[in-house]
Amino acid sequence: MSQSLERYSRQVLLQYIGEDRQKILMNSTAVVIGCGALGTVSASYLVRAGIGQIKIIDRDFIEENNLQRQVLFDEKDISENLPKAIAAQRKLQLINSQVKVEGIVSDVNYSSIDELTKDADIIIDGTDNFETRFLINDYCVKSSVPWIYGACIGSRGVMMSIIPSKTPCLRCVFETMPQAGSTSTCDTAGVIGPIAGIIASFQVAEAIKILTGDYAAVNKNILEIDVWETELRQIDISELKDISNCPTCKLHNYEFLDAESGIMTTFLCGKNAVQVIHRNSGSIDLRQLELRLRSIADVSFNDFMLKFKVKNHTFTVFPDGRAIITGTADLSIAKGLYSKYLGM
Ligand SMILES: [Zn+2]
Repeated sequence: MSQSLERYSRQVLLQYIGEDRQKILMNSTAVVIGCGALGTVSASYLVRAGIGQIKIIDRDFIEENNLQRQVLFDEKDISENLPKAIAAQRKLQLINSQVKVEGIVSDVNYSSIDELTKDADIIIDGTDNFETRFLINDYCVKSSVPWIYGACIGSRGVMMSIIPSKTPCLRCVFETMPQAGSTSTCDTAGVIGPIAGIIASFQVAEAIKILTGDYAAVNKNILEIDVWETELRQIDISELKDISNCPTCKLHNYEFLDAESGIMTTFLCGKNAVQVIHRNSGSIDLRQLELRLRSIADVSFNDFMLKFKVKNHTFTVFPDGRAIITGTADLSIAKGLYSKYLGM
């Protein structure tokens, strides 16, 4: 076995993998969208398995209550105010210097998804919301990129592999997006760490099967697991593709990709916070912004973000022009605050 393969010897030994398929993995690109409970686990296994290039995209920074389940982060990351994507990149690159790891602090939305995921051979879902998942589904069906849906809440988790034109897509299964507030989230119902580890592990196993071309081995069902009740259920969805009139994979109507431009606001569930994105803001020089704001607020910043507080609102501003404003759940108030202090 050549030296570059030696570190993967235990994986190469598997009858399903071998040297040739390991080399395919080493020339593949995986994109992990969302680096929380699921994303930290899946990114870690992808890097260890030797996937040649791994991009990790996340818009958020690390909070203390993340450490219970987000296995790549520690207290030092919090004290350094690191965004999740940057902290993850640093840890993962230490694990395997032979692969390229890129942490991207950004929001995945209709205007950014093309650029952020353009090299992807596979996309792994590490998000926590259906809005982004439906967007990923639109993008993947349109561009023929396989992706692995994963979600967990409480002690339960679900997983599903989506290979465009071969399997039903997410929209075949969930026809419309659940209304905001109608589904529980980790912030309202809690989540136990191990279920995220289990679901993310299944996601990576599916990703490795797909990347190595072993489509016969790919799970064609929805897998549902409850780690507390020790239950595992497989829901057969094989007939869905033929009977559904899916707007995405049958009618090719990609409505989540075709949104309008301008200022976008998203309520961040459970945080009393709103994310504001100005599509045309371009990049912000955080040092300049600090100079502008220092007379009216307490400002702190590093290379990745700038934080300041005015009255009851805390702003976290990222170099890509995005801001998270806490202390309000009102989208229009957040828009107003953004214009007022960031001048756009
Ligand atoms: Zn479909």
